[in-house]
Amino acid sequence: MRLAAKELLVLLPEFPQPWDVDVLCRDLAGARGRPLTLHPVDLPEFPFGMWIDDGVGDRVLYRSSATGYHRDHIILHEICHLLIARDGDPATATRTTAPPGAGAHSAAEEELAETFASLALKHAGRLRPRDLSPVERRAAELLGVARA
Ligand SMILES: [Zn+2]
Repeated sequence: MRLAAKELLVLLPEFPQPWDVDVLCRDLAGARGRPLTLHPVDLPEFPFGMWIDDGVGDRVLYRSSATGYHRDHIILHEICHLLIARDGDPATATRTTAPPGAGAHSAAEEELAETFASLALKHAGRLRPRDLSPVERRAAELLGVARA
């Protein structure tokens, strides 16, 4: 599972410095020659995130209350689904045509997307907030980025 996530990471463009998931998405869209837009969704029943292919481009929806590491993680999770479906092994891909919460992806793909998002953020030098001591958290806030 970790190996597959690492293989998918190679499909991402070079990570922006300083880390910015919006810039990464813009660069990924440029590299793939296909629009990729991010849309905060303000609905309580909305799942954490969703990827939609609207026929013209890719849209990643995420819950508008998610911020910081959590927001980055949701967006990268959905990008993983996109990469699997578009550039990965078609045999392992499941398409997101089902409505939110309908379990559009297999459990294995969900696990892969979670691993992918965590690995990507580790690569970007982001630490989960709960992994930081109070001093480290304060330093991360001041610097705007946490270094592993
Ligand atoms: Zn998912």
